[in-house]
Amino acid sequence: MQTKKYSLLLLKKQERDTVKKQCKMCGKVTIFTDTTIRRHNANGKNIYQFAIYKCPKNHSWNKKLDIYKSFTNHVDPQTLVPSEFKAIEDGEKLSLSAGIESYEISITGAEGNFRLDRTLADHIEGWSRTEIAQKIKSGTILLNNCLTKPSQKLAVHDRISITIKK
Ligand SMILES: [Zn+2]
Repeated sequence: MQTKKYSLLLLKKQERDTVKKQCKMCGKVTIFTDTTIRRHNANGKNIYQFAIYKCPKNHSWNKKLDIYKSFTNHVDPQTLVPSEFKAIEDGEKLSLSAGIESYEISITGAEGNFRLDRTLADHIEGWSRTEIAQKIKSGTILLNNCLTKPSQKLAVHDRISITIKK
């Protein structure tokens, strides 16, 4: 049986950071807002982390956050992230693909109040909260291998399993 594994970090919605600076595309000083999307670029021995900011006209600016050295000359930045679980980025939605029979989502952090049904509706493409609530009640969606209720609050180390009917 093919299972796809994901990790999900649940953080409280915060005021997004803004920076006032010149936008080269707009040709004027404007407000750039943090999209909270992060990118990593490898450049020789260094790995750079960037925050992507956007101006109101959607032009991007990459703010350099951190530089960290890779362990050897030949480290692939991909190997720094546990490869088994793919992180679901903030604002990203998981699209369920054909041929995958089950999904496992590991909660790597839950800062705040996150209901199981609402969280899944926020992170799975094409599933409404009502559909998700039914799947939780029917046991298609399990929490830590147990039946639970749609309003169940999520905590760190929780594991959500989703079985896809053929
Ligand atoms: Zn601009």
